[in-house]
Amino acid sequence: MTSPDQNPLPPNHDAAAAQASWYPRWTEHGVFTASAERATDHQPYVIVMPPPNVTAVLHVGHGLNNTVQDVLIRWRRMAADEALWVPGTDHAGIATQNVVEKQLVVEGLTRFDLGREPFVQRVASFVEQTGGEILNQLKAIGSSADWTRTAYTFSPELSTAVREAFVRLHEDGLIYKGHRVIHWCPRCGTSLSDEEAEFTETAGKLYHLRYVLADDPTQSITVATTRPETMLGDVAVAVNPEDARYADFVGRELILPLNGVRIPVIADAYTDPAFGSGAVKITPAHDANDFEVGKRHALAMPVVIDPEGVVREVEFAAGRVPDELEGVDRFEARTRIVKMLEAVDALVKIEPHQHSVRHCYRCDTVVEPRLSDQWFVRMQPLAERALAVLRSGELRILPDRWEAVYVNWLEGIRDWNISRQIWWGHRIPVWYCDACANTPDYAPIVSRTDITACPNCGGAVRQDEDVLDTWFSSWLWPMSTLGWPNLESADLKAFYPGDVLVTAPEILFFWVSRMVMSGCWFMGKAPFHTVYLHGTVRDMQHRKMSKSLGNGIDPLDVVRLYGADSLRWTMVAGLGLGVDVMLDPNDLDKSFAPGRNFCTKLWNIGRFLLSRVGTENVASVDSIAPDSLTAADAWILDRLDQAIADCDAALGPPRPANGETWTDAERGRGLRLSEYAEAARRFVWNELADWYLESIKPRLMQEGEDREVARSVLAHAFDGALRLLQPIVPFITEELWQQLPTTPPNAFIAQAAWPTRRSARTSLGDAFETARTVVQSIRTVRNENGVQPGAWVDATLVAEGVMAASLAPQLSTIGSLARARVTMASTAPGGAAAHVVVAVGLELVVPLAGMIDLEKEAARVSAELDNLDKQIEALDGRLSNEKFTAKAPPAIVEAERAKLVEWKAKRDQLAAKLRSFGP
Ligand SMILES: [Zn+2]
Ligand SMILES: [Zn+2]
Repeated sequence: MTSPDQNPLPPNHDAAAAQASWYPRWTEHGVFTASAERATDHQPYVIVMPPPNVTAVLHVGHGLNNTVQDVLIRWRRMAADEALWVPGTDHAGIATQNVVEKQLVVEGLTRFDLGREPFVQRVASFVEQTGGEILNQLKAIGSSADWTRTAYTFSPELSTAVREAFVRLHEDGLIYKGHRVIHWCPRCGTSLSDEEAEFTETAGKLYHLRYVLADDPTQSITVATTRPETMLGDVAVAVNPEDARYADFVGRELILPLNGVRIPVIADAYTDPAFGSGAVKITPAHDANDFEVGKRHALAMPVVIDPEGVVREVEFAAGRVPDELEGVDRFEARTRIVKMLEAVDALVKIEPHQHSVRHCYRCDTVVEPRLSDQWFVRMQPLAERALAVLRSGELRILPDRWEAVYVNWLEGIRDWNISRQIWWGHRIPVWYCDACANTPDYAPIVSRTDITACPNCGGAVRQDEDVLDTWFSSWLWPMSTLGWPNLESADLKAFYPGDVLVTAPEILFFWVSRMVMSGCWFMGKAPFHTVYLHGTVRDMQHRKMSKSLGNGIDPLDVVRLYGADSLRWTMVAGLGLGVDVMLDPNDLDKSFAPGRNFCTKLWNIGRFLLSRVGTENVASVDSIAPDSLTAADAWILDRLDQAIADCDAALGPPRPANGETWTDAERGRGLRLSEYAEAARRFVWNELADWYLESIKPRLMQEGEDREVARSVLAHAFDGALRLLQPIVPFITEELWQQLPTTPPNAFIAQAAWPTRRSARTSLGDAFETARTVVQSIRTVRNENGVQPGAWVDATLVAEGVMAASLAPQLSTIGSLARARVTMASTAPGGAAAHVVVAVGLELVVPLAGMIDLEKEAARVSAELDNLDKQIEALDGRLSNEKFTAKAPPAIVEAERAKLVEWKAKRDQLAAKLRSFGP
């Protein structure tokens, strides 16, 4: 027998040592490695990791995102699914190119000085040397991804997938080259998609400009614009054809101030007569809406701002830019133009104007609308399928309020600009032959393989200079990482479609909905059945954490200070569905206290428990004869079953019950991680440690069969608790589980079975539940009467028949837990005593004589009672006054009534207490 002092574990948990010890052992034993072969007789469960940018550094948002995924994967791995978590990184076209361009600036160079090939080489070697560090950082927080399948969006395999997708969509008629106004970042020197040009609320100005009529300078039209510099490129002023105010103007010409260019007044239904003056200037080359108007009216499209955001006569703009504005940056040009307009009396007024301005999502530069040739994906046919899978229940989004957002976006979808004028990325697989360009049926060559000669004339070809939007590779991620387009790939066959996609709502459009589209289009199935959108980590002022605000938390700091488990527990326990996580970057101690406290408590429980269980063999709970179990044993086994049921309910269902589509009843359920954490915590802390362990201490101290039964139940209950907790706190649970005598050799809790409920449940445990209520009642009496914590009290349980019989074996347990000398009686003893009705047929009587100064206490209670009586009388009076009840708001009256009921109940209690002090 192990002496209680012989403790196998040190007093303080060494989180760093546990991490350093267990993580490499898990990977060496292939605990995280999934197998396509095993997936034939195990249900697969697949999550693809949102690939961080290859140059990214771990921040707290990644910490939260990956912890959530890890909890789900670890849960399903234990539940005997073939769990696969696919990790990897994204080459992140613009972002990575920007990083290397910044390095070049330090060397006094630009990418153009290097040239395309050397520059791409340079980025590639930069990525090779420093990239992917974030994946190692994810290991530090315990992520159990299958690192043998680590993918990269720019690897040869995934590049093949990108090219296949492009060619296939082109064959399907869904990719085309278009000439139109797109979003342009003058700093990054590339076009952007709608999603990449993010709106920012801006306090801008609205400039009202006066254009006079060419044939009658006394008459004019006023137009309003937020970008007066674009007036140099105006080709018309449009009015609504129904607008009587301008009926006489249509067809006549206006003179553009500053350059004297004549432009027509045209009628177009696009113009809203109620907005501003009802007349709008049309600048087709610098505004997407104006471009459409320009096309309808076959207007010229002069370009007056160049790709770097500098005003000049770029194209079709001869005579439009005055000399003093040529070569001036767009914002400086704005200031100068306003002054010049004012000088020629063409500026009517300037108003403050709050509006949304698009900014580059990579560098925050104000986006310039620009006319150019770009490649587009026709999105509507793709969007239709992505809508259909949501409607059919093949896909669901949690929290479900996001489903409407998803539907809205897909229903109003616009074509996706996928070409970028940068060098780092998948080059567009299109070749041009100048020799054939003028032949009648000429079309650029779209090819799966690189070509060097024109298939038509054999002459030289040149490849399109542009690369594809990074998201054009990310949207294939759930398929390409499994081997697509090779449909014979064992991984693709075994693991597609996957299960859950875990991310923040910010990339619902960028990425999530596009993955659904590509999955539906190329594989005929949505890539996952559940999208789980978790909250964002915010600081105490509810601001998003960011580098620029300096309010971030480095998860690795938290791991060093408190351990990965504390980080994980804090995040998961605080994670309501779709609710933001609030952490204070200035007080890590406080922010991560939930995790630290929990891990400390778990360690202390484990340490004490293991010292009592000892190291000798423990019999399996199932081998114990039912009549050898005490009520406490049966009770804790029941509580474990309940905890398992609660955890399962909070987490599940893992997939649609019919394997295909969610029913309405299932749709909103599951993935409530904080509820799962709380159910597991409650069991180990409030039930196992506070009650069961306390109640069996005497049994564990003596030799004999009863001790063996207690050891066995204790080991079983703790084993169950650790299994429930493993997905959230994998390191500390592994450390403790390895010490349990029931743990088989060479096993890891990381791949042990998820606990299941026992089939046998008897009413035996109910007696302990009643005993627990009695203990709580005695404790309440002690508190209310100010009994010293160390003092013993007398207590009598008044019960008969079955109740008495079931409680009789509990008296010593009740006594030791409540510090009471407990006896049973069939009638209540006389004298001053506290009386509590514990349950039907069970009364608790605690004599007060000798415990407290009865006289003094009676005087105090009686004064309290008098005071309460007066308050009740006053409130009663007020409520019977009709003036009050008729005039006061109903909510107030209701609250007052409730208060009266409460006070009356309290009066009854005090009166009973006074009576208990005796005559
Ligand atoms: Zn930019
Ligand atoms: Zn040719």
